[in-house]
Amino acid sequence: MLTYHMNIINILCVVSLRRSRSLKTETEYSAERLDALNREQEGRHAEEIIEWTYQAFGFEVAFASSFGAEDMIILDMIAKVAPRFRVFTLDTGRLHDETYEIMEEARSRYQLDIQTVFPQRDAVEDLVRGKGFYSFRESIENRKECCGIRKVEPLRRVLKDLRAWATGLRREQAVTRGDTPVLEIDSANGGLIKVNPLVTWSEAEVWQYIKANDVPYNALHDRGFPSIGCAPCTRAIMPGEDIRAGRWWWELPEYKECGLHPAKVNPA
Ligand code: SF4
Repeated sequence: MLTYHMNIINILCVVSLRRSRSLKTETEYSAERLDALNREQEGRHAEEIIEWTYQAFGFEVAFASSFGAEDMIILDMIAKVAPRFRVFTLDTGRLHDETYEIMEEARSRYQLDIQTVFPQRDAVEDLVRGKGFYSFRESIENRKECCGIRKVEPLRRVLKDLRAWATGLRREQAVTRGDTPVLEIDSANGGLIKVNPLVTWSEAEVWQYIKANDVPYNALHDRGFPSIGCAPCTRAIMPGEDIRAGRWWWELPEYKECGLHPAKVNPA
């Protein structure tokens, strides 16, 4: 009985420690402090932002990589300036073969320790058993349910132990990302800091860096996929189409976020 109570106390302590870690981050970074840091970081090169982030948070920050073009640049920079920066990826179980190929290439090229995070097996089994393999096509609610199980829950499982995370978001990528700063409080994920080193970059700058530094990239980019997610929810786009047009193309642009980066505009 004593052991049982000790276990419960231990669990409560761990939960409260994890919660207090992100709350502490939120309190440490007041709006004024964040504004000042953003003014300072916005003029810096992405490599310097990555270096600053690692120095500020050490093992309590991790980079979430989906191995798209922007993420490959960040991996390239991490390998150069902060090779011990933690890196993780979410394997939803529905990715393209080309995405696994680039993951492997990144692994061997950069020699980084990349953690692969999978969804909860029971949740995926229940979803598929109850609603089939393509429920996400039926409604926004079903699509968000699938993203919730395959992406959001695994992401939150990783983030709960961190004080900050880094992403490859750019403002130009979507109407939902136009106001994204370099550093922000991620209230949707428990109040930790979100760092976006490439947020000011244009698409042209992305490809310039990739070519100049011989950075490997997902083969789908050369087949008309500017933005790559799960295979059944991503298609190639036509010249002139918006770069997010190939993601969940059956939904309005304002809804096109999977919950990893909640939309900053209110759908009409
Ligand atoms: S992108 Fe599509 S397949 Fe992937 S988690 Fe979201 S709804 Fe499911």
